[in-house]
Amino acid sequence: MRFASLGSGSKGNCSVIATDSTFVLLDCGFSYKDVMARMKRLGIEPDALAAIIVSHEHSDHVSGVEALSTRHAIPVYASRGTWIEIDAGKYEFTNYIDGLFTVGDLNITPITVPHDAREPLQFVFSCSEERLGILSDLGSLSDRILHAFIELDAISIEFNHDISLLQQGPYPSYLKARISGDFGHLNNEQATKLIELIASDRLNTVVACHISEINNKVALVEKALESVLKDREIEYLVASQSDGFNWISVERR
Ligand SMILES: [Zn+2]
Ligand SMILES: [Zn+2]
Repeated sequence: MRFASLGSGSKGNCSVIATDSTFVLLDCGFSYKDVMARMKRLGIEPDALAAIIVSHEHSDHVSGVEALSTRHAIPVYASRGTWIEIDAGKYEFTNYIDGLFTVGDLNITPITVPHDAREPLQFVFSCSEERLGILSDLGSLSDRILHAFIELDAISIEFNHDISLLQQGPYPSYLKARISGDFGHLNNEQATKLIELIASDRLNTVVACHISEINNKVALVEKALESVLKDREIEYLVASQSDGFNWISVERR
């Protein structure tokens, strides 16, 4: 299994997960033209996509889903609550996520997360023995999340904001409260703690994603990652809004 990102942050998110025979997108928060250009960079053919999985209805995750799905006849998977919000009637190929599901040779486990959407999900992808977790858009940690995101080989985790940059920053107070609240987004400290709690001997890759360009700094995220990963054999990188990140192989060690 391998994965990549076409871009990550509040202006748009789109990940791709692939096995030897199956390609799926997770979210598509870019316009049709933009996502086509971004897929080309990673050598992905839209007609090869077996599914678009939608985590929740926020525009940075869904703005390009309808166009891409309609023009290339790609089935879309989302929770019942997300389907209500994005209007299932507009889509031809609807699949309701209601527990474990399979696309090609990918097994996909949905996990509910605390976030201010109708029925938001995040996911663990597995194929043969390899396990990849993608966990963005959540405001707080829970036992359920900690139990679901264990024994992974690779994980992408939201490092949305630095608490003091958010508080000192330009956002109005209602927005600061929303972002830092239990149903908002993870800050660097929470994300670091999460890594500490789930890092098993087999974890070998951590990607920091969904980083705010206004309320965070790459240097702070790298410092946080370094603090928790320095004594472990775990590679890390930081996803960007413009380029996401290139293919990463998910390997069991
Ligand atoms: Zn988001
Ligand atoms: Zn969101």
